[in-house]
Formats: sequence, structure tokens, C-alpha cells
Amino acid sequence: MRIVLVGPPGAGKGTQATRLAETLHIPHISTGDLFRANISRQTELGKLAKSYMDAGNLVPDEVTIAMAKDRMEQPDAEGGFLLDGFPRNVSQAEALDELLETEDMKLDAVLDLEAPEDEVVKRIAGRRVCRNDSAHVFHVAYTPPKKEGVCDVCGGELYQRDDDSEETVRRRLEVYHTQTEPIIDYYKAQGLVVTIAATGPVAEVTRRALEALKRDQ
Ligand code: ADP
Ligand code: AMP
Repeated sequence: MRIVLVGPPGAGKGTQATRLAETLHIPHISTGDLFRANISRQTELGKLAKSYMDAGNLVPDEVTIAMAKDRMEQPDAEGGFLLDGFPRNVSQAEALDELLETEDMKLDAVLDLEAPEDEVVKRIAGRRVCRNDSAHVFHVAYTPPKKEGVCDVCGGELYQRDDDSEETVRRRLEVYHTQTEPIIDYYKAQGLVVTIAATGPVAEVTRRALEALKRDQ
């Protein structure tokens, strides 16, 4: 399956993507995680991306699309993938369509995670991610690690993302509404959007997502 996850920052895309990717046996591709891996390896791409990310803005399309394309062309993504955080505006969605078309492929669904703004703000405020891999995500109150400050998955140190500060979150929500939300209409026109409520326990949201994807087949 080829799936795009969409939803405001903090809706739980990364959390759900990890679980859905495992169940559906497809790789979880998060452009945010790819940028953060570049930042920790101190690559040129990482240095460029960090300035945009810290301000809560989108990284320019050209580098983002090239990075996403490169990842989607890896052998493990041949049979499908779950995109998390990409596309994030209409021109990225168009670039993805072009890429899929040249490979004679199609998206199966766009899963839209809906969550109220006050809830996503609380989720982001308590989010902690692992230094080794930012796909290992916890919340100080809602999904705490077994040992404070330590990743359950790999023992890495947990930290608060620089862009999870209150001020940057406000900007990221604004960017979501103005630049990312329009892709929902773009994909609605293709009949691909399935919307679910992303509130309630993590496992319950996963169950809802799998059910919605099954119904959509
Ligand atoms: P996104 O990738 O959409 O930005 P994350 O998956 O990183 O969102 O989740 C944001 C925060 O909310 C994390 O701290 C995560 O542990 C927490 N979280 C995710 N899903 C839920 C849920 N259903 N209930 C409570 N907290 C959640
Ligand atoms: P995320 O981990 O999805 O919350 O993304 C964190 C930040 O990485 C975003 O606020 C952007 O600055 C950047 N980013 C991630 N994905 C994209 C994308 N598809 N296009 C542009 N910027 C992105």
C-alpha cells in the first residue's frame, strides 16, 4: 500500500505511522525524521534544514522533494510506503504525483488525522523524542517511557525538540493551515481522503485507522 498521513503537528502522525507501518509491512518515511537525522550527522542538508525548522517554516521544496524521492526509491519501498509529513504543500503533492506516474504507481489512501488545536498543543508541549532516532516518540504524561528521560526502544536519551517551543508551535500550526491543509482538498478531488478522529488512546486510533483503510479498499 502507498499511504500519505496528514494532520496538524502533534496529531500523532509519527506515533501512528510506526504502528501502521509494522502492521502493514511497509516502511515509515518521515521527512521530519530524515531532516533530524541529517541535523545530528551535521550534513550540509541538515544545516540548511535546521534554520527553517527552528523558525517553524517549511524547508524549501527543491531539497525536500529530492530527499523524499531518494528515500522512496530505496529497495525497501518498492512494495509500498507510509509517508509522514510529506507532501506538506500542493506543489509537493504535485511532485509526488509526477514521481508516482513515471513509475506507474498510485497512492491508495490519504489518511487525515483530525485533532482539536488545544489537544495538539498539549501533545506537543509534552513530546520527548530519542536522540538516536526521532521516530521513537514519547509524551511525559500520556505515553511516558518506563524510565524518565530514557528511550524504551533503544535506551537513547530523550529530549524536547527545538521546534516544540510554544512560539514555534504557533507558527507551525499557521503553516499547517495555510500551506498543508489545501492538500486535503487536492486529494479529495482524487477520492483518496479518509478522515479519522485522532483523539483517545493510541491503540484505539490505530484500530480506527486500520478499519478506515480496510473500508477504503
Ligand atoms: P506528529 O507526528 O503528528 O507531530 P506525534 O506522533 O509526534 O505527532 O505525537 C505528538 C505527541 O503526542 C507525542 O508526544 C506522542 O507521544 C503523543 N501522542 C500521540 N498520539 C497520542 C494519543 N492518541 N493520545 C495521547 N498522546 C498521544
Ligand atoms: P515534523 O517532524 O513532521 O513535525 O517536521 C518538522 C519540521 O521539518 C517542519 O516544521 C518543517 O520545517 C520540516 N519538514 C518536514 N517535512 C517537510 C516537508 N515535507 N516540507 C518542508 N518542510 C518539512
